[in-house]
Amino acid sequence: MSLSPEIAARLRDAAGFVFDMDGTIALGDAQSGGHKALPHAVALLKALNVRRIPFVVFTNGTAKPPADYAASLRRAGFPVDNRQMLTPSSSAAAWLVRSGIGKVRVLGNAGCAAPLRDAGLDVIGPSEAADGVEAVYTGWFREFDFDALEAGCASLWHGARLVTASHVPFFATATGRAIGSSFAINAMLTAMTGKRARVLGKPSRVALDVALATMGLPRRAAAQIVVVGDDPALEMRMANAAGSLSIGMSTGIMKSDADLAERDRPHALLDSLEPLLAAIG
Ligand SMILES: [Mg+2]
Repeated sequence: MSLSPEIAARLRDAAGFVFDMDGTIALGDAQSGGHKALPHAVALLKALNVRRIPFVVFTNGTAKPPADYAASLRRAGFPVDNRQMLTPSSSAAAWLVRSGIGKVRVLGNAGCAAPLRDAGLDVIGPSEAADGVEAVYTGWFREFDFDALEAGCASLWHGARLVTASHVPFFATATGRAIGSSFAINAMLTAMTGKRARVLGKPSRVALDVALATMGLPRRAAAQIVVVGDDPALEMRMANAAGSLSIGMSTGIMKSDADLAERDRPHALLDSLEPLLAAIG
């Protein structure tokens, strides 16, 4: 698979790279519970380090804190520091702090809440009694129950904003499609309160801006970066909306770009990371 001269030039001159994790640089390894690197992925990240081109890995999962995902990738051979690993809770924490919000009810597990606590936010548990909650944040939360529904609704009825890690109904696993927990929780909260969830993970601009800031790049550098991913509605949509170069990978859930809407179509769809490695030299 060869790249057009224009895309090859944009890759060569890229100011930074945002990689998705699952289906893009690695696959979940059922045997170890960890990750297995996809071909050329480790070499590509090492080459970026050699060339001093910044990169981050941004997964849309919030089941674990970013440091746990980074450790799993390091065990698979990747040169990824904890600070280069982002989840929607990373961008949610940044957005909440910037919005002057201090008290957040998290309908999510400990891994989902960790980046918010690390950012100094006052994190309220799913069904914990609390006044003055300013935002309800939903993420990975298989333990969701009726008490959490009541507490979340009460906070929203008292004026809290509804924000979420992700609003996609399904995600791909080794054994088929699984339910996105925050989508289902958001549906219940919206039905009860009329409030719609604002997405703070991919494909939001908030997520891309946190990736840029983590790489030490200004917001206006969005047009000079490359976003690599396997989900049209997440990575491709985020990249295209910001004017970044969108590189789709058919090693995950996107098998073809034929039926995709313009906003979700990658600039190039690849079946291997090898051309990226070749382009950056
Ligand atoms: Mg993916």
